[in-house]
Amino acid sequence: MAFPTQSNYVIIGAGIHGLSTAWRLAERLEESGKGSGKDIVVLEKSGIAAGASGIACGVVRNNYFQPAMRKLMAHSVDVWESDPSGLSYHPVGYMQISSESMREDVRSIYEQQQAIGYESEFIEGEQQSTHYMRGIFDDWQAKGITSVLHEKRGGFSNQTKTLYALADKVEALGVRIITGVQVKGLKTQDSAAAIAAVETDKGDIACEQVIIGAGPWVRDFWDMLDLPKQITVKDLSGDIHNGVDMWRYWQLEEGVLQIDPEIGKANDGGLAPVIHVDTDAPLYSTVDGSKITDEMWGIYYKPDWHFGGIQGGASPYKVETPVDEVQIDPYGPSSPEFVSSPEFAHMWVSALAHCQKRYEGMMPKYHREASGGIGCFTPDSFPIFDHFHENVAVIADSNHGWKMIGVGHLIADEVLGDKQDLLEPFRFDRFEKGDLHPVSNSPYPWS
Ligand SMILES: Cc1cc2nc3c(=O)[nH]c(=O)nc-3n(C[C@H](O)[C@H](O)[C@H](O)COP(=O)(O)OP(=O)(O)OC[C@H]3O[C@@H](n4cnc5c(N)ncnc54)[C@H](O)[C@@H]3O)c2cc1C
Repeated sequence: MAFPTQSNYVIIGAGIHGLSTAWRLAERLEESGKGSGKDIVVLEKSGIAAGASGIACGVVRNNYFQPAMRKLMAHSVDVWESDPSGLSYHPVGYMQISSESMREDVRSIYEQQQAIGYESEFIEGEQQSTHYMRGIFDDWQAKGITSVLHEKRGGFSNQTKTLYALADKVEALGVRIITGVQVKGLKTQDSAAAIAAVETDKGDIACEQVIIGAGPWVRDFWDMLDLPKQITVKDLSGDIHNGVDMWRYWQLEEGVLQIDPEIGKANDGGLAPVIHVDTDAPLYSTVDGSKITDEMWGIYYKPDWHFGGIQGGASPYKVETPVDEVQIDPYGPSSPEFVSSPEFAHMWVSALAHCQKRYEGMMPKYHREASGGIGCFTPDSFPIFDHFHENVAVIADSNHGWKMIGVGHLIADEVLGDKQDLLEPFRFDRFEKGDLHPVSNSPYPWS
C-alpha cells in the first residue's frame, strides 16, 4: 500500500495511548456516520509496543492521593473491565500496605474511594494488618505495617498482549498502523497556528488533527510544537518558581525473580492482589544480613506468567543528565545506559524476603537480564493532557500511563469536540495558575 499523503487524523505512537485513542476515535467516527477508522493513521517509528508500554509492569490501580487522578483511574478501570480477556487484563485487585507515616494519606484515599463508589477495604493497626495479610499469604512477615488498603478492583495486564489486541481491534475498524516511520516535524502553513502536515522520513502527510502519544519522546515533540523548554510554576504555597525545566527523566527500576509463578500464589491457590509495600522498617540483605536502608523504601510485585516469575519494581531514581542530553534511544532494556541496577536487584529481592518468608535466600534466582527503562516527567510529576496549535492533542502521562487506557478515549472525545471534565485538572496552564495536585508522603513521584 502506498504511503499516505493525507489523513484526517494522524496519531503518533503505537503505545497504549496512541492505540486506545485510535480505538475510540474509529468507533465514534463510525457511530456518527461522519467517517471511519479509514480516516486515521497511526505512525510509529519502530514497532507496536516499542516504547514504555511494551516494558510496563502492567499494574492497574486506583490508589492515588490526588482526587483528580483517582477519578480518572476509576474511568480507566471501567475500560479495562469492559473486555478483560480481550485486553489480557487480570482483575485480581491491588493492595497498598504501609507503615505509620502513610496511614493518614491512605485512609483519606480509602474515604474518597468510598465517596466515588470504588470498592475497597481499609484495615488499620499493626496486629490487624498482619492478621489480614496472613489470611492471604500465611508466610507474611513484614514488620511495622499499620495499614492495608485493599482495592477490590484493578490488578494487572500483560503489556505486549494487550497492545497487540488493541492493534487488532483498531485495524479491524479500518485504522492503518504504519510502523518504521519516524516523525521529524510538524508543519504549519501560511502563518496559521494549526498544523497542516506531519513531516516524516517517508514524506509529508497533510492532516486535520494530530494526536501525540509519544511516551518518553514527548520532550522532542514539545520542541517540534515550539512549546517552552522552561516554564514558571506557582507552587501549592503560592510561591513562584521561574525557569523550571519542563521535562526531567527518571529511571524506572523493575525486574523478575525467575521462579515458578505458582510459588507466588495466595493461600487459597488463586492469584493474590498486586502487592505494593511502602515502609520505613529497616531493610536487611537476604544475601548476608547487612543493613540496606533504614529510610523509607517501597516495592511492588505479583506472580506473572507473561514475565515468567515474580515480577515487580521499586522506587525510581532521577536521571541527572541534563534533559536535552538524555539519549532515549535505544530504549528500555536495549539502552546501554538506562537499565535496572545491581543495587536494585539486591534491594528488591531482599524486600520480597522482608515481606514473605518464601522469598528468603532467593537472590540467585534473580533474572540477570537488562530490564526497566526511563520515563519523562512533568514539573509536578502529573500528566498533561491538552491541546495546542488549534489541532494538536498531547498525551504526556508523566509515566502514570499504562493503567490509563481510558485517557485515549477521553482525548478522542475531545478531538471530536466534546470537552471532558475528567481531563480538566491536567491542562498545561495549571503550572502558571498554581492549580497543582496535592502531594502525598509516598516515596514515589507518581502517587
Ligand atoms: C519499566 C516501566 C514500568 C512501568 N510500569 C507501569 C505500570 O505497572 N503501570 C502503569 O500504569 N504504568 C507503568 N509504566 C508507565 C507506562 O508504561 C507509560 O506511562 C505508558 O506506557 C506510556 O504510554 P505511551 O503510549 O504514551 O508511550 P509509549 O508506550 O512509549 O509509546 C510511544 C511510541 O511513540 C513512538 N515514537 C516516539 N517518537 C516517535 C517519532 N518521532 N515518530 C514516530 N513514532 C515515535 C515510540 O517508538 C513508541 O512506540 C511503566 C513504565 C516503565 C518504563
